[in-house]
Amino acid sequence: NRWDGYDKNVYDWSSEEEEPDGRARPVQVLLVKDDHTFELDEAALSRILLAEEVRDREVVAISVAGAFRKGKSFLMDFMLRYMYNHASETWLGDADAPLTGFSWRGGSERETTGIQIWSEVFLVDKPDGRKVAVLLMDTQGTFDSQSTLRDSATVFALSTMISSMQVYNISQNVQEDDLQHLQLFTEYGRLAMEETFLKPFQSMIFLVRDWSFPYEFPYGQEGGMKFLEKRLKISENQHEELQNVRKHIHSCFTNISCFLMPHPGLKVATNPLFDGRITEIDGDFLNNLKVLVPWLLSPRNIDVKEINGSKITCRGLVEYFKAYIKIYQG
Ligand code: GDP
Ligand code: MG
Repeated sequence: NRWDGYDKNVYDWSSEEEEPDGRARPVQVLLVKDDHTFELDEAALSRILLAEEVRDREVVAISVAGAFRKGKSFLMDFMLRYMYNHASETWLGDADAPLTGFSWRGGSERETTGIQIWSEVFLVDKPDGRKVAVLLMDTQGTFDSQSTLRDSATVFALSTMISSMQVYNISQNVQEDDLQHLQLFTEYGRLAMEETFLKPFQSMIFLVRDWSFPYEFPYGQEGGMKFLEKRLKISENQHEELQNVRKHIHSCFTNISCFLMPHPGLKVATNPLFDGRITEIDGDFLNNLKVLVPWLLSPRNIDVKEINGSKITCRGLVEYFKAYIKIYQG
């Protein structure tokens, strides 16, 4: 059962975009340039989302965001495996196969800030018989200094605005500054959107990587929810600032949940030659990955993107993307 999904590319690339082997790949659709301006690659976005097979389908848009070098792309590649293996029991595939897809790598160098989407949009049959289009987005923010915090905030805000599920990837714990960042980023998003009595965003998943207190809160979604409830609790004797961050977060999202992931093992974290093969990943991590990915992506769990209470198609998403980016280009 080789992972052969990458061969079945459904789109024709224009000549300058063409990959020699015609395989699906990540495409940078939003780029933050050195002068802190934003550039949307409308042509690339349209090529993917306006392809005939998908443009009139309702869209499920899944984004992963958070600081760099915390395993976002690594996770997305497993999400791709799941999609390409059609959610089968054996989706993890060949134990010795290197992991490919969105580029992920070791080291501490920073990368470009922006949004990449996977060039293949997946058509998935929901249990109720509807066929929906699933779009995977990988975001890069730097979160590292004041000058780039605004860039990160915009990338995070945009990806939250256009996704039906935002996975907020954080390392080790949910710290107060992770919540403050989230408040800043969602405030950026909310200001850009039309006033509505509905909550502006859909699902927010706090994904805690390298969780090391499973004896307090066990790995997975249930432990995560209990942990998050405690972290997001609002109480009278809390400082007003802490209360406000929490109220803000609750007011922004229709669903908030949390998943606690174990450390993947030292080979993943430190070996520069590690190529992503699952034989070199800790069993605990893999066991939780087998729960996490279907929990995020199984046909019954995915939700169509809604804006102001209306379901959005791929075509609609392109229009929103263009409208939102204009606001930030100011
Ligand atoms: P991104 O910048 O957030 O997209 O991070 P990458 O996916 O490129 O991964 C950065 C580095 O972290 C790589 O060397 C990965 O092997 C490693 N990595 C991936 N997942 C995890 C994890 O859950 N914990 C730790 N400690 N390292 C990870
Ligand atoms: Mg990455």
